[in-house]
Amino acid sequence: QTVVELSGLTKRYGDVTAVHDLSFSVQRGEFFSILGPSGCGKSTTLRTIAGFENASEGTIKIDGEDITGTPAHQRETGMVFQNYALFPHKSVGENIGFGLKMDSVPKPEREDRVAEILATVDLDGFEQRMPNELSGGQQQRVALARALIIQPSVLLLDEPLAALDLQLRQNMRFELQQIQDRLDITTIYVTHDQEEALSMSDRILVLDGGTAQQIDTPRELYNNP
Ligand code: ADP
Ligand code: ADP
Repeated sequence: QTVVELSGLTKRYGDVTAVHDLSFSVQRGEFFSILGPSGCGKSTTLRTIAGFENASEGTIKIDGEDITGTPAHQRETGMVFQNYALFPHKSVGENIGFGLKMDSVPKPEREDRVAEILATVDLDGFEQRMPNELSGGQQQRVALARALIIQPSVLLLDEPLAALDLQLRQNMRFELQQIQDRLDITTIYVTHDQEEALSMSDRILVLDGGTAQQIDTPRELYNNP
C-alpha cells in the first residue's frame, strides 16, 4: 500500500534547481532513506513533502490524495528537524501538545495523549520540564514525540541524529528503529551518512545535485554502488 507518492517533483529557488524531476513512492511501514552529500536537495525534498515549501512542478500524494497545494498543518505528516526546533519557553507537555491544541482537541484528551506518547519515547513524567533542562538526546525524543502525537501517515526525519555525539547517536538509532517497529509507522529519513542509511533502511534513494541516482535496498546498493 502506497503512502507517499512523488511524481516529477521539481523545486527551484530562483536560478537554483534544488530538486529536479524526482519520482518515488514509499510503502506503508517502510523505512525509506534519502542519502546524499550536503546541498544535494534532501531537506528541500522533505520540506516540500511536509508543505513548508511549494513544489515548482510535479505532484505529491499522501494516502492516494493529491496534497500538492495543501497547507502544511493540514497534511498527514510529522516532521523532526535537525536542530529539534522546540519552543524554548514552552514546557515539554506544551511543546508536544501544541499541534493538538491547534486542532482544538480538549485538554483532558490532550493530556492523556501527551502522557502516552511521552511513555513511547521513554520520557514518562517529563511534561513540566523545560527544553533547556534536557540533554540533546532527550530534546530529540521530545521533537519525535511532537511529530508522532498527531498520528501522521508519514514521519519525516531531517538528519535527526546529526547534533548528537557518537555514542548517543548509536543509542538513538536503535531507539528509532524500535519505535518504528512498535508503531509500524512509515518513515522518510534524510541523512548524509551512508553507513546510517545502509543499517537502518528498507530502501534508499541516492540523491546527487537534486537528481535521483538510484533507489535500491541496502543489499542492492552495497553490491552495486
Ligand atoms: P541538503 O538538505 O541535501 O543539504 P538542501 O535541500 O538544503 O540540501 O539544498 C539544496 C540546494 O538548494 C542547495 O544548493 C541550497 O543552497 C539550495 N537552497 C535550499 N534552500 C534554499 C532557499 N531557501 N533559498 C535558496 N536556495 C536554497
Ligand atoms: P541543511 O543542513 O538541511 O542542508 P542548511 O543549513 O543548508 O540546511 O540550510 C538551513 C536553512 O537555510 C534552510 O531552511 C534552507 O532552506 C536555507 N538555505 C539553504 N541554502 C540557502 C541559500 N542558498 N539561500 C537561502 N537560504 C538557504
